[in-house]
This record gives sequence, C-alpha cells and structure tokens, in this order.
Amino acid sequence: MEKLMGAGMATDTAAETARTAAGTGSAGRAAGGPRGSEVPLLRRGDRRRKVVLSQGALSIVVVLVVAVLWLLDPDSLFADPLFPAGILLEAGLLLLCFVVPWQRLPASAALAVPLLDFAAVGLLRAGAGDHLSGVGVLAAFPAAWIAASRIPTAAAAALTAGGSLCIVWGPLLFGDARPGPAEFLGPFLLPVVLTGLAAFISILTTERRAQQEAVSRSQAALRRAAAEGVERERLLATILDTVGVGLVVVDRDGHDVLMNARQRISHGLAAPPGNDDPNERQLLIFGPDRETPIPAEERPVRRAVQGESFDDVQIWLGSGRAQQAVSVSARAMTDDDGTFVGTVVSFTDITSLLRALHAKDDFLSNVSHEFRTPLTSVLGFLDLILDRRDSLEPDVVRYLSVARRNALQLEALVDDLLAINAGTFRVRPVQCDVGELIGACIASAQPAADAAGVRLINTAPAALPAVADPVRLGQALDNLVSNAVKYNRRGGTITVGADLTDGLLRLGVEDTGIGIEAEELSQVFDRFFRSPAVRVSTVQGVGLGLLITKSIVTEHGGTISAVSEPGQGSTFTMTLPQPS
Ligand code: ADP
Repeated sequence: MEKLMGAGMATDTAAETARTAAGTGSAGRAAGGPRGSEVPLLRRGDRRRKVVLSQGALSIVVVLVVAVLWLLDPDSLFADPLFPAGILLEAGLLLLCFVVPWQRLPASAALAVPLLDFAAVGLLRAGAGDHLSGVGVLAAFPAAWIAASRIPTAAAAALTAGGSLCIVWGPLLFGDARPGPAEFLGPFLLPVVLTGLAAFISILTTERRAQQEAVSRSQAALRRAAAEGVERERLLATILDTVGVGLVVVDRDGHDVLMNARQRISHGLAAPPGNDDPNERQLLIFGPDRETPIPAEERPVRRAVQGESFDDVQIWLGSGRAQQAVSVSARAMTDDDGTFVGTVVSFTDITSLLRALHAKDDFLSNVSHEFRTPLTSVLGFLDLILDRRDSLEPDVVRYLSVARRNALQLEALVDDLLAINAGTFRVRPVQCDVGELIGACIASAQPAADAAGVRLINTAPAALPAVADPVRLGQALDNLVSNAVKYNRRGGTITVGADLTDGLLRLGVEDTGIGIEAEELSQVFDRFFRSPAVRVSTVQGVGLGLLITKSIVTEHGGTISAVSEPGQGSTFTMTLPQPS
C-alpha cells in the first residue's frame, strides 16, 4: 500500500512532510507570520506537480501493459477499438494534468482526473477482453488517489464504488448481449476490493494527516516559544544594560553567569594595573578608609556566593583619583527545594553622594568655625557690660541678659556641630552624684514643662553616687528631658528614673507624648533626622540632640535605646558601665 502511494499518490500529507522537513512549511513561518495551524498546508505551486505525479504513476503502468501486450501479441492491441480508446483517454488525461492551471481551480477540481481514469480503465478492460485478464486492477490507482485526497472517507468509498462498478457493469450495460443477474454479480469482487482499499487508504491517510498536523502544530508552538525566549532574552539584556546599576549574576560555583555593561566598567576599574582579567582576590577593593584592602573572604561577592543576602555594604573600588564608592546588595536564589542555586549582586555608584556628604560636613565645620570667633567676642563684650549692671537701667540689663542667653545657646550649637564633625565628644568620668544631677536637670526643665502643661516626675534616688562626666551626662539628660517636653501633650507626664545594679548605671526618661513610628525609630539617632510629623509642626529643633546624646553615652562606653508606641509615648534608656 505504502509503495503504491509512494509511487503514484503525491498526497497532501507527503507534501506536508517534505515541506516540514525543509522548514518552509507552516511551522517555518510561524514565528513571524500567521499561526502555523492557520496557514494552508499545501502551497498552490505544488498542486500541478502533485496532480501530474498522481496521474503519472497510472500512465507508466499503462505504458508497461501496452509494451507487454505489444511483445506478446501485437495484433491484439487493436483487435477491439475500445483498447486504443482507453490508451488515448489515458494519454489525454496526462496531458490535461500538465496543461490545466490547477492552482487557480479549487482543490477538488483535480478529482475529475481519477474519476475519468475509471472510464479509461473501463475502456482498457473492455478492449483487452481475454488477452489481458485483470486490467481492471489498474482502477486501484484512481481509487487510491481519491482516497488520499482530503474528501471524507465515505465520499471516497462512494466515488470508488461508483467508478469501479462503471468499469465492471459498463460493458454489460452497453454491450449487445442482455445479461442476467448472474452476469452482474459475477465481477463484483473488483468493486468490493477497490472500495475497501479506498476506505482503508482514506482512513490511514486521514490519521496520518492528523498526526502530521499535530506535529506541525507542536513544532510551530516550539518555534514560537523559542522565538519568544530569544526576544525576552534580548529585552532583558537591553534592560540590564540600560539601568544605572551594576549587576552580576553568579552561579552556585561562583562562575559569572551574567554581567551588565555598567558592571563591566566598574570591574575594569577594580582591576590591578596590567591585569585585564583579574580574579576576585586580585581586585582592588577597599574599606571605608579607601586604603585598607577588604580580606578576600569578606568581599561582598564572596559573601554572596556563600549564600548570604545583604544590603548596602559600602566599599571602594580601584585606586587613585578614579576610585569609586559603591553600595553593594545581594540576594541569594534558591530552587523549589530551597537549595542555593546562585546569587544576584547589585553595585550602586555612590561616589557623588559621598562627595556631597563630605562637602556638606566640610561646609558645616567651616561655618561653625567662622561663627565661633565673633560669637566669643559678642559674649565677651556682653559679659563686660553686664559686669557693670549696677550702673545700667534694669530694662537694659534684662535685654542684655536675653541677648547673652541666646548667644550662649548659639555657642552651644556651634560647639555641638564642631564636636559632631570631629566625630568625638571627649568625656572625663569622675565620681559624681547622678541623683543630684537629675534633680538639677528637672529643675531647669520645669519652666518649659509648666509652659507646656506637662508634669515632671522624678523617681530616681535623691543621692546616687556613680562614675560619669557630670557635665556631659547632664547635657545628655537635658536633651532627653527637653525632647520629652517638646514632643509631649498638654496634661502629659514625664518620668525620670535611675538605678545602679550589677555595675550598670541606668537612666530612663519616659513620656506620654506623641510617640515615634516604628520605621522612624531606627533613624532618630541619625544626624539631622526629624520625623516628618515634627518637621511640619512648630516644635523647634535641628535633629542633633539625640545624636549628641548617643555620642556622649558611647564615649562613656555605654548604650542608648528607644522604645515607643505611636500616640502613647516613648522611653529612652541610657546604660553606662561602672568601674568595678
Ligand atoms: P530635635 O529634637 O532637635 O528635632 P533630636 O535629635 O533630639 O532632634 O530628635 C530627633 C527626632 O526624634 C525628633 O525630631 C523627633 O522627631 C524624634 N523624637 C525625639 N525624642 C522624641 C520623643 N520623646 N517623642 C517623640 N519623638 C521624639
């Protein structure tokens, strides 16, 4: 059967197979054009070739039959005119196959040829008579052609049955003899066999075609998926090269899987002179002082490869004027089982930011210095005048005292700014009475608390001997108590307490004020931090008080902590270790 089809029936399915293999079929066009399954399976130019091939097989066999007859019994060829008529019809049909523009006609038009083939085979069979038994078998060719076309199996079987019945009954109907039922039933085997053959081929072809189409569709889907994958990869590469952040993707073994353009530049910057392809250990990576190399095991990429995730690790890359400050973050990637499969490391250039911060610090430091000299002079002259207060009008003394107090405040602020910029608050711990210190602090905060309608409560012992710098600790306490007054509410309370246990001096300031939001709590000790709510209020402040307080506590070797409930209040606790 296959052989038969292979020789003569250039079926749609066979043509599809050829096209799919060549990659020019529906699947081949699927990526950029219409969906694979919607593209016609047979190209129009192929139709004539298919018709000629299908008819050619029968024509070749007819030529062979004629040749054999010619050799065996040349006279028998023309004994009956129906035989040459059959040959002529066959030849005419082959010619038709060549000349008819099949591509312009509907696909089903070509079926006229196998139907006429039945007539040709009928003529050959009738004309051959007893000379060549079994010529009717040639009808298997048009039967197979019809069966392999795209018409339904039932239609193929019906056409084949009709055609083959014409072959066997034609001579009976148009002959001179008057045949009886026995003559009609006698040659019934041929139509039955051919119809069965047609049904069989049709079912087989339909199944094969369905399989082929399924394969074509899945190939088209695969090609589409591959094309989409390539497109997505291109998009990702463009995005990675567009973002202003250096990115490296490293696999579990520490091999670079991906590095974007920005990171390649930074990587080049960190390469030692004369080494174009340095490994991680050889890269010039320094700590905050820009000079101390970071040990290989502590380098951000090494830590990331070991599965660590982190944020904002600041390093310096390269050396000299081109040195770059970078903030590094890493996120570990895990598979469904939670196994580490790689890491993504990002590098953000913060050189300009750090330069701006340094410029700001320098500016503050310079301005503070510039303020200091005239302020000292103003205070000196104010003191000189106030030394002669007996000879001055009381009003003048009052005005000058206000001016002196404000000048002293300004001087304290300038001192704080200078100390913060210098990064140190020198403390001189001595034996002192912290109970007395707290009492003095509360007494000086009382007028402000009264004005704000806030009650001050002292739960600390009246006398609490401890080792601390009384001036600096007093300053720290003043800051906490004045904040507790400033950020409190009318009718609120402030409780100041202290104790000394297990070699630790603890001082706590608790208020029932506005409280601090959780996300702001970690920032209250930062330089110039003021919560957004406070910034828009009329409460005075510059955001240095808690930083100074923390610096004083740190200089004592202690710690400070804050807990707060927004809307309920805050508690600040200073803990200072005591010498044993
Ligand atoms: P300043 O008081 O000058 O603004 P601080 O450094 O003393 O600066 O305080 C920083 C910020 O912390 C304040 O602006 C305020 O938002 C918040 N804060 C400090 N103490 C308290 C407190 N007791 N209750 C509520 N918020 C506070």
